[in-house]
Amino acid sequence: MTGRAPLVIAIDGPAGSGKSTIAAALARRLGLPHVDTGAYYRAATLAVLRAGVDVTDADRVTATVRRARIDRYAGRVVLDGQDVEDEIRGPAVTAAVSTVSAHPPLRYHLVELQRAEVGAAGGVVEGRDAGTVVVPDAPLKVWLTASPAERAARRAAQLGPADSDAVALHAAQIAERDASDAARMVRADGVVEVDTSGRSVEQVVAELVEHAIAASAARGGGG
Ligand code: C5P
Repeated sequence: MTGRAPLVIAIDGPAGSGKSTIAAALARRLGLPHVDTGAYYRAATLAVLRAGVDVTDADRVTATVRRARIDRYAGRVVLDGQDVEDEIRGPAVTAAVSTVSAHPPLRYHLVELQRAEVGAAGGVVEGRDAGTVVVPDAPLKVWLTASPAERAARRAAQLGPADSDAVALHAAQIAERDASDAARMVRADGVVEVDTSGRSVEQVVAELVEHAIAASAARGGGG
């Protein structure tokens, strides 16, 4: 016996569903690495924008990203040795990321990097296709949702003062990103669906910890 297999939890859901906050809090609570797959697509998009490459050109996009070096340290993304965590959350990357991430060869490359980050320690893997593609054998797969109004309000609050114009703008952008991401937003079999609307982070995390304990026990991981 080499001991228990590391716990892997997949958390998927659309923009503004609370994924990042919940995944980070759950990872802290369980002492697991937090693997943010969206951060890879954002870093790849920044590399493509910096190179001045046409975001619709799959071959050039993929070649550019293969040449770039994307690392994550302590929850921050490093692109070619530079911390770009703040820049990848900005409007230029957010506007282009769905187009860049639609190219299958680019996705194969980034999924390899994401799986390497999960590695031997396990992790809470967050994204759109964590449960279907990145870690399909994860014993716990979660799909987070929230009402459209709450998703827009959260995104606006993350990015600045949340007046009604800002919320309306984010609602429109979220609807656009949902439409572009739709092909990748496939719910895995056996997924636990959790609606985060009107619930605190602590409440959702407590529910997911219960699911994690049950999933771990079901696969013989013990308590
Ligand atoms: O999770 P986040 O909103 O940061 O993801 C940014 C974008 O990256 C998504 O809108 C989607 O286009 C892409 N993405 C993806 N597959 C993932 C994670 C993110 O295509 N697993």
